[in-house]
Amino acid sequence: MGSNTSKLEALSRILEQEEAGGFQDSTVIGGLDRFLQRWESELRPVLGEFSSYSVLTPPQRQTWFQNFSPRLSQTSSSDGDGNQGVPTLQKRSRASAQKRQKAKKPAPQVGLEQKVSILKGVSSQNVPKLKRLGVETVGDLVYLFPHRHNDFANIRKVSELELGEEQTVVVTVWEATETRQGPRRRSTQAVLGDDTGNVRAIWFNQPYLTRTFRPGTNLVISGKVNVFRGSLVFESPEYELLRGQEELVHTGRLVPVYPTVDGLPQRTLRRIVKQALDVSISQVADFLPEDLRHRTGLMGLQNAVAQAHYPDAPADWIAARRRLAFDELLLLQLAVLKRKQAWQQAEEGIPLMADAEGLGSFLDSLPFGLTEAQTRVMTEIFDDLGQTTPMSRLLEGDVGSGKTVVAAAALLMAVFNGYQGAFMAPTEILAEQHFRTLSHLFSDTTEPVQIDYLLSVGAERFPKPVTIGLLIGSLPKKAKADMHKRIADGEVDLVIGTHALLQEDVELPKLAMAVVDEQHRFGVMQRASIRGKGQRPHLLVMSATPIPRSLALTLYGDLEISTIDEMPPGRQRIRTRWVEPDRRAAAYNFVREQVEQERQAFIVCPLIDESEAIQTRAATEEHERLSRDVFPELRLGLLHGRMALREKEKVMEQFQKRELDILVSTAVVEVGIDIPNATVMLVDGADRFGLAQLHQFRGRVGRGQHQSFCLLLADSPGQEARERLKIVARIHDGFELAEEDLRLRGPGDYLGTRQSGLPDLKVARITDRDILALARREATRILDADPDLEKDENTQLADHMKTYMAGLAGEMS
Ligand code: ADP
Ligand code: MG
Repeated sequence: MGSNTSKLEALSRILEQEEAGGFQDSTVIGGLDRFLQRWESELRPVLGEFSSYSVLTPPQRQTWFQNFSPRLSQTSSSDGDGNQGVPTLQKRSRASAQKRQKAKKPAPQVGLEQKVSILKGVSSQNVPKLKRLGVETVGDLVYLFPHRHNDFANIRKVSELELGEEQTVVVTVWEATETRQGPRRRSTQAVLGDDTGNVRAIWFNQPYLTRTFRPGTNLVISGKVNVFRGSLVFESPEYELLRGQEELVHTGRLVPVYPTVDGLPQRTLRRIVKQALDVSISQVADFLPEDLRHRTGLMGLQNAVAQAHYPDAPADWIAARRRLAFDELLLLQLAVLKRKQAWQQAEEGIPLMADAEGLGSFLDSLPFGLTEAQTRVMTEIFDDLGQTTPMSRLLEGDVGSGKTVVAAAALLMAVFNGYQGAFMAPTEILAEQHFRTLSHLFSDTTEPVQIDYLLSVGAERFPKPVTIGLLIGSLPKKAKADMHKRIADGEVDLVIGTHALLQEDVELPKLAMAVVDEQHRFGVMQRASIRGKGQRPHLLVMSATPIPRSLALTLYGDLEISTIDEMPPGRQRIRTRWVEPDRRAAAYNFVREQVEQERQAFIVCPLIDESEAIQTRAATEEHERLSRDVFPELRLGLLHGRMALREKEKVMEQFQKRELDILVSTAVVEVGIDIPNATVMLVDGADRFGLAQLHQFRGRVGRGQHQSFCLLLADSPGQEARERLKIVARIHDGFELAEEDLRLRGPGDYLGTRQSGLPDLKVARITDRDILALARREATRILDADPDLEKDENTQLADHMKTYMAGLAGEMS
């Protein structure tokens, strides 16, 4: 295409626009004269002498137009191609990606394991940036999937452009000029056109584009058009030079948008990924067994990878995503099922027989009757305990549903069978409380038990007394050493503690039953390592953070699940209110009124920082402020994680004995604390806590017979925080809340990624229930037929598993 012709063509188009616009000299940025001057040498041979356009009045311009226009169109049509050779993209785009690929000559192949620096598009500066994206190899790029696509497949003529829609035009550059909106803001403006009309485009702060967009260049432009000063303008659209049959990367189709980092522009990353795909996608081997693929109808892996980046149509993307999500979930399910298999196939555990005398005595002496749900889960647990295969069970139940007593019964089973039990809690305060509660439940008298780190109780009612020990980090050194020895000797039947239980020097030679309370607060490693103690103990993990079933399956696919789905009778709904910022004083007054009615209250301090030290300081100051300025007449206590054991015990005891009216605390009261007379939970800075956490706080009250309240204070909650606070106020069922939170924030935020032990899912989402179910079914089927993945058809899958398991080792083992 001769550039001379294109300039004439450009001028012709511009003049048509001028005519349509009433000769206002508004078509070319800066006026037509600038265009004429720039291309004077090319235009003069055709037009002859021409005068300035800008100085003319509109009628004079019309004459000018009538004079020159015929010469232009003659030249144009004599050229025989009024269309200016602008390729018709419609045809190209309708051809499938595969055809496009075939049209190209095959790129040299690069192995997936090669470093990214082997790609010519990757500069040395880009290597560390890609690393921040978790990309080191070519294969990582191939598996770096876009988080969304821009739909630029909607190809139009300029005359068909619609305001506000994402659309694509194939145009020729008539003119591109640099403009300044200020000393530093240099932008590029361009007049672009096809055979139906002209359109303007502007790219802010990218003056260099002026050089790229030489007049006559063919471009594909994708984006939205707006109206500016009466004409259509693309603002910072995606653009792409149209070169022969080269495949479009940035425009004209569903265009991938990748997660990227500062300093790595989307276009650069897109080009790099495209290059990686071009040179290595043929190396992607489908590792799924043939018959599984047939059965499930899943897309082939190579195609799925290609379509995930550059889908031919939205439906192809959905099918591709389904395949890739399936792969992730299948590997995950195989991993958890294999873990379960390994656990169960190894040497046998210790079957525990229900001891009618001891257990009956325990259950009969409870101050309440068990709920149906409690009875049901106890039966499930006792059934497991009677087996030689060690139990792996998750006990879920909303806050206050009564899990502790179920755990106590399971622990007693070990003791009555002559073994040890261990009960692990995430905080010292909770461990101490369990120590007290269990001592109390097992003791002969109803007198509260003297707190110490070692107790022997139940001599009269049980076949033999139960010796209970407490093991937490803040025990005095001597006491700790003493406890270690007594546990190792087997003198302690039941040890209650924190992570301190997991330390290597803690020997539990006769451990047969391990309970992990509030298990989501432990890392996966910690949770699993309690199993390493003793003789392959039965394991019961408990969670008051109810986990939606789909998530539970993914996270704990190796666990059986028991659910307490019923609250003890007589529980009232806790009235929950989000308190508007200006109602703080009223909230404090409400607390005061409750205290006047002999009730007690918790006040949780705002979460300023994850750091325990900062939290401690903030809580200390808040305690002072409230004591001095707000509740000078009341008795306030302070509780935080940094207090010495004795201090904590003292405060909890005082609060329990009603010697304190209000307990000011950090988030440490989140789990487990059981004070039936407390009726108000005031959470300050509630917007800083997650839904599940707020629900836990709320669970600290409403444990007695009095109507209880949860007040959520937030000084300047954002829109999303308001939404969440309203949800907590509205939804009282922990499971429903969990589903809601999951929907709002995703599993990472819900459980806290650090806590959840959830392996990194790139494509799959926890809400992909059907894919998850399919993956679980297929994983079971594969392992049933071939437990060790030794059969021929599973060779590639087995290889893949090995790599996958190695990657997981840090997270899941
Ligand atoms: P969580 O499931 O949150 O750990 P707990 O085990 O701490 O709940 O129980 C909460 C409270 O309910 C405790 O005070 C406990 O004694 C009481 N409780 C447990 N089971 C029952 C029941 N069946 N009837 C009445 N109260 C019960
Ligand atoms: Mg509990």
